[in-house]
Amino acid sequence: MQNWKIRFFLPDISEEEENAVLIPLRNKWLTMGEKTHAFEKAFAQKINTSHAYAVSGGSAALHLALMALNVQPGDEVLVPSLTFVACSNVIVAAGATPVFVDVCDHNDWTISPQDIERKITNKTRGMIIVHYAGFACRIKEIQAIAQKHGLFIIEDCAHAVITSVDGQYCGTFGDVGCFSFYSNKNLTAGEGGMVITQNEELAQRLKILRSHGMTSMPADRFQGKTHSYDIQGFGLNYRIDDMRSSIAMCQLQKLDKNLRLRTRVYQSYLNKLSQIDSITIPFQNRNAAEATGYHIFPVLVETSDLRDKLIEGLKQQGIQTSFHYPPIHQFSIYQSYLKGQDVACPITEEVTSREITLPFYPSMSDDDIQTVCDSIQQCLKS
Ligand SMILES: *Cc1c(COP(=O)(O)O)cnc(C)c1O
Repeated sequence: MQNWKIRFFLPDISEEEENAVLIPLRNKWLTMGEKTHAFEKAFAQKINTSHAYAVSGGSAALHLALMALNVQPGDEVLVPSLTFVACSNVIVAAGATPVFVDVCDHNDWTISPQDIERKITNKTRGMIIVHYAGFACRIKEIQAIAQKHGLFIIEDCAHAVITSVDGQYCGTFGDVGCFSFYSNKNLTAGEGGMVITQNEELAQRLKILRSHGMTSMPADRFQGKTHSYDIQGFGLNYRIDDMRSSIAMCQLQKLDKNLRLRTRVYQSYLNKLSQIDSITIPFQNRNAAEATGYHIFPVLVETSDLRDKLIEGLKQQGIQTSFHYPPIHQFSIYQSYLKGQDVACPITEEVTSREITLPFYPSMSDDDIQTVCDSIQQCLKS
């Protein structure tokens, strides 16, 4: 492993997770079972939703949501270009067509309600929206648009595991909420995810589509509840296992504590970076009704050249940075898929040409933050 002085991300893994992961191993029950069920119940309670199903990953959650909503070839699904590629790959996997939407502006990098309305056609079935970096989308405006046009909303909450607006958690505003427990997420199990919904009918579909469309679960058969099953949907194997669910349960219990630590790191960065003229920080002046679930720390550098210089300079000093994200429509596979069509996402293109994501994790010390900020100042001067 590369010997970074300051890593981009450090998960909060301790003895609790080490002990928890041994329980299913010792019980010799490895796949989805009672640990998964307990985690789903605790997660649903935390987010305040009626149905939560743990799955193998965030992308699996998004794909399941599209399947449960019966998205078909010919359908168009709106999606931001400024997000992780999984968001549009799953639309293609479902046989539908992703239509790329721009972000609001240089300060708010969530999907633009105006551009959503502009890009709705008679083929549009719904949208995947992303609460970028833990900041909520303009959810009330988006809900109104969806209602007006009869569209579904899938919320990608991979960055926003406990972001709330008016006391209501992200993931519960739309038809389905999708979470990721990938290694660098605020709640991690290494890999894993969750789909949530308040809709009884969608819940039943999500539940069976996660496990081949089967009407019984591995644990049901083990408990002798049934020895056969019917197949009621073209499902896939998107199950999680009890080792991951055991780790995720520990992480869930640390979530509030770690969010307090993240908030402190965020504030400290804000104070220190405000003195550097060529760096601007997005998502300032948020709606007072929002409680942000800080996930990453993206900033804008004055020019694209200076951004590239900063990435290289920080690397030289042992500071690992990242990039969220290369616009999806510019990837080579999407360039050929789009066949030269103009997706009209100018703000996304401009913002991503100057973006850099700084190290950000709950246990980051004041010294670490100071080191990052001093190094930035040094790189930009030279
Ligand atoms: C991580 C992430 C995903 C994918 O989750 P996986 O668990 O890696 O499949 C999807 N969307 C966003 C915004 C993400 O950050």
